[in-house]
Amino acid sequence: MDDIAGKTMDVVIIGSGPAGLTAALYAARANLNPLVFEGPEPGGQLTTTTDVENYPGYPDGVLGPQMMDDFRKQATRFGADCRWGTVTKIDFDQQPYKVTVDDKTELNAKALIVSTGASAKWLGLESEQQLRGHGVTACATCDGAFFKDQEVVVIGGGDTAMEEATFLTRFASKVTILHRRDKFRASKIMQKRALGHPKVEVMWNTVLEEVLGDKVVDGVKVKNVQTDEITTLKNVTGVFLAIGHKPNTDLFKEVLEMDETGYILTKPGSTHTNKPGIFACGDAQDKDYRQAVTAAGTGCMAAIDSERWLAEQEEEQKEAAESTAS
Ligand code: NDP
Repeated sequence: MDDIAGKTMDVVIIGSGPAGLTAALYAARANLNPLVFEGPEPGGQLTTTTDVENYPGYPDGVLGPQMMDDFRKQATRFGADCRWGTVTKIDFDQQPYKVTVDDKTELNAKALIVSTGASAKWLGLESEQQLRGHGVTACATCDGAFFKDQEVVVIGGGDTAMEEATFLTRFASKVTILHRRDKFRASKIMQKRALGHPKVEVMWNTVLEEVLGDKVVDGVKVKNVQTDEITTLKNVTGVFLAIGHKPNTDLFKEVLEMDETGYILTKPGSTHTNKPGIFACGDAQDKDYRQAVTAAGTGCMAAIDSERWLAEQEEEQKEAAESTAS
């Protein structure tokens, strides 16, 4: 990192999922020499999934880690500088913004692209973590098709749980929603859609105790929180967590405008945040779609927005210099 310490970059991109690496590709092709700090999970959430079958351009599907390698290769081919490292601090009071990486290296960024993504929430059970990617997942859109004619459970009672349960009825033979209370918080219409499907059942007041299986899921143990009764659902092969996502935006708290759950707010139809020269894309600002392809789309927007913003700044500085001189 010594080679970049103290330097001023045109664009620094924070995060390296589909949004960050697409921003890097576009910014590189615009000759902005973007510097990408890949963050604690290089490649983002897709590096924890197996097959990706819904990204356009891969008719036979692709492994998530492979796809993110391809993204990175394409960006670096045009000169993006992708580095291991996590941005740990930003001084927002000065422009260019002062960025600290890994609590050590300091450099300056005229424009910042925030593509820090979001992380699915997990229950924290040991068995859940052991079988993650082997039947336990947090994305029905990504993994639902692997459960054709099999029984699955969905955990949660919000819109995501309803949406995932409804989506899973296309493949699974039975979908059981496990919810810790006796009422869903999901919108009425999404509840109706899920509960109206003959394949969907609900176990109210029920929590997941343990995911069973050595290499793949072959059952779950659940507990009724009112009676403490434990039941084993032996035929379950898929466990879908839908207990919410947390955007990785703590670094920007009290500086960038966010909604009450921490998603960064951008100006309508753009990636501009409330701070000049800071752009947000991908899951850090999107709680509704959360797809690789939508993240890549907003990453492209962020690069174009930052390119235009930098050009405007340069123009303004030139005009100011000219008027001072005359
Ligand atoms: P929510 O926070 O709305 O719901 C999370 C659910 O998980 C709740 O039912 C909660 O239970 C449950 N839960 C949380 N923690 C635990 C735990 N430790 N153990 C068991 N259960 C737990 O998250 P969503 O992802 O569903 O939705 C997030 C936002 O995105 C919402 O605003 C939603 O409306 C929106 N959204 C919109 C969609 C659409 O319009 N198409 C689709 C998907 C999401 P409890 O209710 O008891 O707190």
